[in-house]
This record gives sequence, structure tokens and C-alpha cells, in this order.
Amino acid sequence: MTVPVFRFAPSPNGHLHLGHAYSALLNEKMAHEANGHFLLRIEDTDQSRCKPEFTRRIFDDLAWLGLTWEEPVRIQSEHFDDYDANLLRLWDMGKIYPCFCSRKEATASALVTADPDGQLHYGGTCRALSRAEAASIITTGGQHGWRVDMNACNDPAAAIWGDAMIAKRNVGSYYHIAVVTDDHLQGVTHIVRGRDIEPATPLHTLLQRLLGFAAPHYHHHDLILDGSGQKLSKSLKSKALISLRAEGFTVAAIRKQLGF
Ligand code: GLU
Repeated sequence: MTVPVFRFAPSPNGHLHLGHAYSALLNEKMAHEANGHFLLRIEDTDQSRCKPEFTRRIFDDLAWLGLTWEEPVRIQSEHFDDYDANLLRLWDMGKIYPCFCSRKEATASALVTADPDGQLHYGGTCRALSRAEAASIITTGGQHGWRVDMNACNDPAAAIWGDAMIAKRNVGSYYHIAVVTDDHLQGVTHIVRGRDIEPATPLHTLLQRLLGFAAPHYHHHDLILDGSGQKLSKSLKSKALISLRAEGFTVAAIRKQLGF
């Protein structure tokens, strides 16, 4: 029988707040109840927004909450080679293509349909490039991201994203290829995360299927801001854990407020 593996995977682009605390505590609780593993992963591929001081803070805040996790912690910015290897596999399969469009160019050629984030679907300019043409632009140093060729994927659920960008340095979209790669490499069996990320899940399950990865179980929990923790006052919800600590909140009080 496979041992269940859970993970909490924050992005160090700011301080952790109560919503993060809830997600981390829930993952640890579920892992404990399932006699499974609880991993911590730092998702810092967007190096324009992530900072080492926020990563240090995450370790500190989580330890303060009483959480323990297995070492070594996977730090995504140290593993771009793993993500790029999977991008090449997907390109070889004809499922993704490099996109050289600037944001402005992509907007200018956009379709009228929109994705779950409200962004108009990409019009497909770079899809028309041959592999040889694209490869030669890359060789000459052309900046590019990678988009899914949805027409080649036959996946109605993921198609709501259009030709989604799944990897581009410093715009946050490396997240998609990185999360799928790491969940596979780390043997994650249960992905427990907030409802805010639920719309991206069809994109992740598509990538898992294309890459031949096992399908994990997904559970998307309510967000502290709109669902659970109704008793929390609004000012409390938006405060960083570091501020709550400074104001003298105890771990016991916070755990109780969050229902643990
Ligand atoms: N790094 C993502 C975030 O902080 C979470 C990714 C995930 O749990 O799959 O929003």
C-alpha cells in the first residue's frame, strides 16, 4: 500500500497569514490521521516577487505554529532543470509550444473568450511557427514562455484556459509545470489546498496525464476569508502571522480560532 504524502507549498512572496496557517495545519492533520508524510515545499519560481527573507519567515512561522516537516525542503528555484526537462518532453509530444509574444502582442491578438482569471484566451500567433523556426529563435536568445496547444490535447476541462502559459520566467506561470513536476517527484498522493487554486486543477491534471504521472487526490478547502473561521473578525483575517505574534496572540488561541 502506498503511504499517503501531503504537502504545504507556499510561495514566499509575502508574509503568511491565517489562511496559510489553516492550510498548513489541515495538511498536517490529514497526514497525521492517515499515517502519512507531511512535506513543506517552497514555490519560489517567480523570482521577481519571491524573497529569501520571506522563505526564512515561513520556516519560522510554521515552527511557531508547532508544525514539523520532513527534510530536505524542496526549494523550487533550485530545480529549474527538472521543469525544463518536462517542458521539452511536452514539446516533443507536440502538446506545448514556445511563445515569443510580449504581453502587448498577446493582448493584441487575443480571442474574445476568457479564462477563469478573466484573461482573454491567447490567439495562437506562435502556434503557427514550425518547430525549426521556433528552435532557431530560441538559439538566438529569444525570450519565450511555453503554452499548451489545447487543440492538440482533447481535454474539455482544461480547455477553459485556452492556450495557457505554463512556464515563463518571472511572471509566475512556471508554477504550473513546477507544481506538477514536484508533486510527481515527491510522490505526493493528496493535494489539499485552497479553493482559490481549484480552477487551475484541470490544467494540472492535463499535464499529469500527458507526462504519465499518477493522478493525486485533490481536496480544495474553503478559504478563511469566505468560509471557515466565521468567528474571526475581519481585521484578524488580513493580518500576517508575524503581526498576530507581535500582538501577543498565542498558538493555542490561533489554532482554536481556526478550528484545530
Ligand atoms: N504555491 C501556491 C500558493 O502559494 C500553492 C500551490 C499548491 O498548493 O498547489 O498559492
